Amino acid sequence: MNHKAIPPGGTLGVIGGGQLGRMFVHAAQRMGYRTIVLSPERDCPAAQASNESIIAAYNDLEAIRRLSREAEAATVEFENIPAAALRFLGRSIPVRPSWRTVWICQNRLREKTFLADRGFPLPPWLPLRDEADLAQIIKHMPVPLVLKTAASGYDGKGQIKVDRRGDIERSWRELGSVKCIAEGFVDFIAELSVITARGVDGRSAVFPTAINRHARHILDTSVIPAPVGPIVTLESRRLAFEIAEALDLIGVLTVEMFLGQDGALLINELAPRPHNSGHATIEACVTSQFEQQVRVTSGSPPGSTDLLDPAATVNLMGELWADGEPDWRALLDFDPGVKLHLYGKSAAATGRKMGHLTVVDRDPETALRRAIAARKAIQPSSHRLS
Ligand code: AMP
Repeated sequence: MNHKAIPPGGTLGVIGGGQLGRMFVHAAQRMGYRTIVLSPERDCPAAQASNESIIAAYNDLEAIRRLSREAEAATVEFENIPAAALRFLGRSIPVRPSWRTVWICQNRLREKTFLADRGFPLPPWLPLRDEADLAQIIKHMPVPLVLKTAASGYDGKGQIKVDRRGDIERSWRELGSVKCIAEGFVDFIAELSVITARGVDGRSAVFPTAINRHARHILDTSVIPAPVGPIVTLESRRLAFEIAEALDLIGVLTVEMFLGQDGALLINELAPRPHNSGHATIEACVTSQFEQQVRVTSGSPPGSTDLLDPAATVNLMGELWADGEPDWRALLDFDPGVKLHLYGKSAAATGRKMGHLTVVDRDPETALRRAIAARKAIQPSSHRLS
């Protein structure tokens, strides 16, 4: 397969129809590319923005053939896409990230094993695949611990925190006795994430480290740069760089980490794509995470990840729609520095990511304070978040 870069004017495919795909499409079009989205869902956020879309299941062979005819390279906007479909597509056009990277990252057992085998720092964990593993965990693993399903877990779904040894078995049954990992509960100081992009020529560009807060297991706020000092910053970025190397990645990779009480970093999970915690890069960095995905998918080297100014992002969840459409006028009047991003989702449900706000400010704490204040201006009185 040739590795010549696809110049603007060419067509890039994105598999998956959510907001990450939508923002990929925006970045691609701004750079002069055409886009084609493959998603099972009509009128999804990415298809609304894209030049073309194919509405079909991810493993629909005819749909993948069409994608390979119409796109010159393809990427993914989430990892739960059948790896076999990506492998099939990869025989015709470059798929970045590769099926193998997606295959590793879509399953916690494979991901943990990959990282552990290469010496990357992880919280203590054991595989939970069958009754024999269960017996080992009950016998040897300290509590509290977290059981996480190996496949298709996200935003805390498919996870149970277990505080008492006697509850481990019942919790696993609650998860359907499916393949899981058991992970030690980490009493972290902070959650960090680092996004990196690696191009066909092996060149990497690592974004500033983000500090993230979750509310009910879903990312709530994210700030760059994380105020964690030069050593943790350097170490977090080194880890992201080295994991991308170990994966032989061509694409964008997000590495979520815990900063422990002892100052050490432990890797929580990987996502082979842009991430909710990287949205501030749109306004705050020379190259956004989506532009980066366009660049490396098309075969160009990654762009500069230099920070122009600190920034904070807060998520707009479906809860904000509890009393009907939020008062956008109130938001836009509130602070002229607030950047509103809405994903075009028609049905607002609890826990559904509907959009986000970003504020750029010379002081990262002020950026966060302003973003939270702006969100408060549109909070229905029945749902106070933070
Ligand atoms: P995950 O889907 O694994 O990223 O988990 C979602 C969130 O649950 C994380 O961002 C943490 O806030 C929390 N969490 C997950 N695993 C652990 C753990 N081992 N210890 C403490 N908190 C955790």
